[in-house]
This record gives sequence, structure tokens and C-alpha cells, in this order.
Amino acid sequence: MKQIIIAIDGYSSTGKSTLAKTLAKRLSYKYIDTGAMYRVVALFALQNGFIKSNSIDKVGLVSCLDKIKIAFQINNQGKSEATLNGLSVESEIRGMEVSSYVSKVSVIPEVRELLVAQQQEMGKAKGVVMDGRDIASVVFPTAELKLFMTASEEIRVQRRLDEMISNGRKVTFEEVRANLAERDYLDTHRAIAPLIQTEDAMVLDNSSLSREEQLDWVLGKVKALCL
Ligand code: C5P
Repeated sequence: MKQIIIAIDGYSSTGKSTLAKTLAKRLSYKYIDTGAMYRVVALFALQNGFIKSNSIDKVGLVSCLDKIKIAFQINNQGKSEATLNGLSVESEIRGMEVSSYVSKVSVIPEVRELLVAQQQEMGKAKGVVMDGRDIASVVFPTAELKLFMTASEEIRVQRRLDEMISNGRKVTFEEVRANLAERDYLDTHRAIAPLIQTEDAMVLDNSSLSREEQLDWVLGKVKALCL
């Protein structure tokens, strides 16, 4: 079967990575979580003192970008984990602290330039499912299949809350709701590569769809393109 690039964009916690992971597994494609890459840069900024009292030292962070090596590795349970300079940071990047700064770090042009170039390199051989905010618009504008995912706010907040609580984090519905609203606002209003629904993207509103229903729907689109 022909190998393609599948670009998945959408608001925070719309189930992009869940769908992207299962889709990649089913098709034996590579899965790239671009949000994790921005989260790793935000974690590096926090760990190295570039974020203090709610403000980001952009010049300092940009001068150290060459010290950030991001990769993905498969852990003992067969799950993909993001690494920073060779160490797994999967748990740290999913916490509330990184979540509250990542959209402020992702507006920095030099950060985007660096990560977009790495993402283009990772996907150039095709056979890839990549999810994020600017995949269809900037990273792979010629992707054969573009999906724009959305779901009701209530459902998105509950999903993220359940995920965080199951990972042992103490967080409230209201904290998660405020974080998603702030990130969506910043991600859709930034000057460079804002989250948009491209004209050629297919919309997938999964508010009332099961994981299997979503997967079947996308597999139908992939088959139509590749057979
Ligand atoms: O996908 P996730 O919610 O983990 O992404 C975290 C943040 O990373 C987003 O809120 C956004 O600010 C940034 N991001 C981005 N471009 C991407 C992927 C994520 O700006 N392609």
C-alpha cells in the first residue's frame, strides 16, 4: 500500500494523540507527537532558569537551543516516551507546570523554526502520522491526509482531567479547564503558525464517537487514498 503523511491538528485534548497512536500502530507508520517536542523545550526552560516569576527569558533560551536534544524512545511497556538529552522526561512534560508555560514557549520564532525543521526531517520518508497545531498548515502542507479534530469543551476537560488523575496528579476540573482555554487562545492567536483549520482538512468532531468509530472512519479515508 502507498505510504502517505497523515497530519492531525486540533485544539488541546481533542484526542489527537490517542487517535494518531492507534492509527500509526494499525498502519505500521511512525508516530510523531510534536506537542511533546514543544513541551520538552518548555521543561528545559524551566529546569535552566529561563522562566522566572511568570516571565520567559527568550534571549537566554534561544541562545541555548543547541543544547536541547529531543528524541523519542520506546519504554519497557512498549510506549513511546520523549527524551531530553538522552533522559526520559515523559512524566515531567505532562504536568501542570510545563502545561502552563508551553504555549508561551511555542510562540518563540526560533523555537518553532528548530522544531519544524526536525519534524520535516522525521516525516520526509512518509509513512508517518504527526499531530500538533501547524502540521497541515506549515510542517507538511502537502500531506495527503489532513484531519482537524475537535470536541466539546466539557468532554475535552474531562478527558485531560481523567488522564492526569490516572497518572497520580492532583488537579481540579477548573484548573484543567483554565489551562486548556488559555492554551487554545494563545495557540489560535499567535503571529507565527497559529492553529488553523486548513481548507483541505477533514473535520473530525469526536464528542460522541468511540475510539473504534474514529479509527474506522480514518482508516476508510486512508484506504481510499492509498489503494
Ligand atoms: O499537543 P499538546 O497539547 O501536548 O501541545 C502542547 C503545546 O505545544 C500546545 O498547546 C502548543 O502551544 C504547542 N504546539 C505547537 N505546535 C505544534 C504542537 C504543539 O505550537 N505543532
